Amino acid sequence: MIDPSQNLSAVRDIAIARGKVARIAPTIPESEARQVVDARGRVVTPGLIDLHVHVYDGVAPLGIPADPNCIAKGVTTVVDAGSAGAHTFPNLRKYVVNVVDTRVFALLNISVVGQSTLSPDNPWGELIDLCLANPTLAIRAIEQNRDVILGLKIRMTENIAGRHDLDALKLTREASDAVGLPLMVHIGGSFSTLPKMLDLMRRGDVITHTFRAGAGGILGANLRVLPEVRKAVAGGVRLDVGYGAGSFGWSVAEAALKQDLAPGTISSDVHQ
Ligand SMILES: [Zn+2]
Repeated sequence: MIDPSQNLSAVRDIAIARGKVARIAPTIPESEARQVVDARGRVVTPGLIDLHVHVYDGVAPLGIPADPNCIAKGVTTVVDAGSAGAHTFPNLRKYVVNVVDTRVFALLNISVVGQSTLSPDNPWGELIDLCLANPTLAIRAIEQNRDVILGLKIRMTENIAGRHDLDALKLTREASDAVGLPLMVHIGGSFSTLPKMLDLMRRGDVITHTFRAGAGGILGANLRVLPEVRKAVAGGVRLDVGYGAGSFGWSVAEAALKQDLAPGTISSDVHQ
């Protein structure tokens, strides 16, 4: 059993009564139980939290159904990271958040269409036209859904945010400041440099795909962590993994860890 809230990582028996944990002890006699589940060799833990998933199945082309991919795998709470924007959020709420068993929160994409454009057969992302970045509509959607929306999301890759990526980030900043919630920035392969983006980020904001390989990442010459990244982290910017298969480079992660730069959160970015 692993429970960080109790500093516990050990072999334990767990008694459950009326759907709740009743007792945790090195051994609990089987004779006291009506039903015994043998969990030897497995990890028993409180529900995991995944800070970056895409569960707007059927609307965001890369989305996946929440329950088979989240709660069925031990992840009880997730944050959908920008699958929906102001125009598509109402139905993320209606058809996903309100009906699935997984507890779903969301970051609202600054683009009104969310991540509904990009797919393997349509390489143009949600901010390729800057007109789709609308802080006024984002603010309104957030004010109406503060119980679900925890912040904003922007993807800064060039085929998504074009050459006006910093303008789009400024609009995201505007919405973020207006509602007093953080923003998450998806980095990598951008037109503008990472230090220029970090200039627009504040305490509590999140970089996702932190250990991505290739251009626009956290490492500079000789695989050294960029000084601007260290400064941002010292100022309270959080580093998220956002694994997503293609958004994680082992060589980058290993180099960063050797320089004592560790992620704050390990998220999956699970998607199709
Ligand atoms: Zn993502």
